[in-house]
Amino acid sequence: MSDCLFCKIVNKEIPSEAVYEDEFVYAFHDISPVATIHIIVIPKKHIKSLNDIEENDLLLMGKILSAINKIAKDKKIDSEGYRVVNNCGENGGQTVDHIHFHLLGGRNMMWPPG
Ligand code: 5GP
Ligand code: ZN
Repeated sequence: MSDCLFCKIVNKEIPSEAVYEDEFVYAFHDISPVATIHIIVIPKKHIKSLNDIEENDLLLMGKILSAINKIAKDKKIDSEGYRVVNNCGENGGQTVDHIHFHLLGGRNMMWPPG
């Protein structure tokens, strides 16, 4: 999608601080972190939101979780724990229409979220 912010980040048209990259997945530091560790993990393929994943995206969603697993180990937050967030749609607080997962760590997380 030519007008999608995260597609532009994937294509390096907009700079980002990469954390992880493979053929299918890209991860980078959030520009406005809300925790010591705040990383955005996305599929390189443009998918608008969790509402829009299809049967043939399920392997890709597994690759996202696998990348999160690797990043958490790399950042050494796997044993202390972390939170993974997907904001979907208006009530979910989604502001960028390219599905993404926030990896938050380095502090204790509150529950319920605001
Ligand atoms: P959402 O609110 O859609 O769940 O999350 C979007 C996230 O993308 C926000 O946490 C926001 O700070 C981050 N973000 C928005 N624009 C940029 C950008 O240009 N670069 C980076 N690295 N993060 C961004
Ligand atoms: Zn996109």
